[in-house]
Amino acid sequence: MRTKTMQSIQRSNYSNIYHLLMDSEKLSKQMIAEELGLSLPTVTSNLNKLLDQGLISKDGQLESKIGRRATAYSVNPNAFLSVGIEVFKNYATIAVINLKNEVLTIRTVNLPFANDDHYASALCNNVLRVLQNNGYQEDRVLGAGIGIQGLIDSTGSTVLWGKILDCSGMKTSLFSQYLPFPIRFYHDADCVATAEYAANSTDGIVLSIGEHIGTAVIIDGQILKSTMGRDGTMEHISINPRNGRQCYCGRRGCIETYCSLSSLLAQTETLDSFFVSLKQGDEKVVKRFAEYLDYLADAIYNLHMFIDIPIVIGGRLSKYIDQQILQELRNRLNKISVFPEDEDYLRVGTVADNAVAIGAAIPFIDDKLKEI
Ligand SMILES: [Zn+2]
Repeated sequence: MRTKTMQSIQRSNYSNIYHLLMDSEKLSKQMIAEELGLSLPTVTSNLNKLLDQGLISKDGQLESKIGRRATAYSVNPNAFLSVGIEVFKNYATIAVINLKNEVLTIRTVNLPFANDDHYASALCNNVLRVLQNNGYQEDRVLGAGIGIQGLIDSTGSTVLWGKILDCSGMKTSLFSQYLPFPIRFYHDADCVATAEYAANSTDGIVLSIGEHIGTAVIIDGQILKSTMGRDGTMEHISINPRNGRQCYCGRRGCIETYCSLSSLLAQTETLDSFFVSLKQGDEKVVKRFAEYLDYLADAIYNLHMFIDIPIVIGGRLSKYIDQQILQELRNRLNKISVFPEDEDYLRVGTVADNAVAIGAAIPFIDDKLKEI
């Protein structure tokens, strides 16, 4: 019993020292001892263990109060890495992040999607090539998350419903035969929410607006999850299923058909070209965008009525929402609001680029940090 208690104290000191260093730039032994109320020998023995495991490094020297310079320690953020992949119809984006969620590499490869062995092998080869070309050791990689436009089972191993990419039933085993680390699938909207939460840790509904729209609900720092993976799929809420616009899901009038980028942009337009035309005052584009903002405000208001927590606009569109557009949305929300609204519940996310790939990599890092 006594041995067990001693071990858990040791583990806790070890863990506390690591996480203190994680939250600081660099610290000396003395600073750690003072901050955590530990003896110097305890700090020394735990620092030695962390050094042996490559989790921290000696990092120059710091001035100490008594004038002598002290050795500084800092975490080695690249001790472990994680891979995130976003798959699209014609290409895939591969991100490598470290223990501080810093993006070390982002690479996009042209690779038409298919739910077959040939595709899995080609995608995995690209992942291994990215690791190799950048000198990242495979045994340092904790795992790879694949962000998919579809619903995922609770274990992250099967796509339960993947209509956009036609990948229902796809399993991680298709990929794991080609990679020496674990693979998990994630719903793409959950990845955007994970990336946004890592950048700004507040609960909320993340409304991810890309080619398609997706939503995820974060409560107490956790993405709402059920066994069938349908949580927060508000994009398919419809209040006009008979006469509304046709959705890819088979029904009509879904939020997806009014608020996604595929509903906003013409076939020949990109987000850049659309916003250039908007800034130039192209009448048709200005009118189309005003109508789009009307629908978007309706969708946001409905989400707000359903769960009264902050709403974060994430995904590719978020980069283009400047203060003026945000104000236009807020004005519309104020107009349609039934109840008095004292608090501002709408904000714009900060991870517009590659949020799905980054967010797909973060859970492996989170798991590792909980373990240390
Ligand atoms: Zn739908």
